[in-house]
Amino acid sequence: MLQAAYSLRTLLGNMLFPPYCLLCHGEVDASATVCTDCFSQLRMISRPYCEQCGQPFAYETGETLCAECQFSPPQFNAARSVWCYNDFSTQLIKKLKYGDHTRLAPYLGGMMRGAGAELLEYATLMTPVPLHRKRLRHRRYNQSFLLAKAIDGGRSSELTLIPDLLQRTRHTVPQTLLTHAERQTNVIGVFSVNVACREIVENARIILIDDVMTTGATLNACAEALQNAGAAWVGVLTLAKRIR
Ligand SMILES: [Zn+2]
Ligand SMILES: [Zn+2]
Repeated sequence: MLQAAYSLRTLLGNMLFPPYCLLCHGEVDASATVCTDCFSQLRMISRPYCEQCGQPFAYETGETLCAECQFSPPQFNAARSVWCYNDFSTQLIKKLKYGDHTRLAPYLGGMMRGAGAELLEYATLMTPVPLHRKRLRHRRYNQSFLLAKAIDGGRSSELTLIPDLLQRTRHTVPQTLLTHAERQTNVIGVFSVNVACREIVENARIILIDDVMTTGATLNACAEALQNAGAAWVGVLTLAKRIR
């Protein structure tokens, strides 16, 4: 009886929301979000990669850090991403960001749990990169918070999600409209630790959640604010990373 009720619910669900690939709109199994063809175009990042910035290495070199991290390391201690930044991962992220595809969040959160397993295990606090309240009003939700919530949803560890650990102190031009050099200066001093959270940041191991890491300027600025407030370690977990 219970089985029949479940099947009926699934059937009704599939009639109301027929399972289709979110990228190419082809048919998929009821449990899949993207079809196997599209999934294979989403280039997953796996070892060997730089342990600090997550940049994949073309081959095993025996080094743990890339040349850039050896020369001028970022503010964060470790970064991981699920996919390389390409047309396919960008499409998925855009759907989450602008298409109101909130049903995508659990799927993406699951992928991030896999890619960031080690960092999530080590961290004690998790927080999304904040949007300025003006942009939040316009977009209605912070996609990075949705991702953090989705990552948190499937875990039973000691990791605590604090949505507003960081705040944006001023409205900035979207990073996507700027050049590499402009992006670095655009976010200087933009983030600060919420006064109410000062105490818990001290000596904490914090993982920052965002959708994309391109130049790393935003995440670097967030990490710097956390380090300045006394964080012991800052990790970064994103869905996609632009490969240098
Ligand atoms: Zn597809
Ligand atoms: Zn590196």
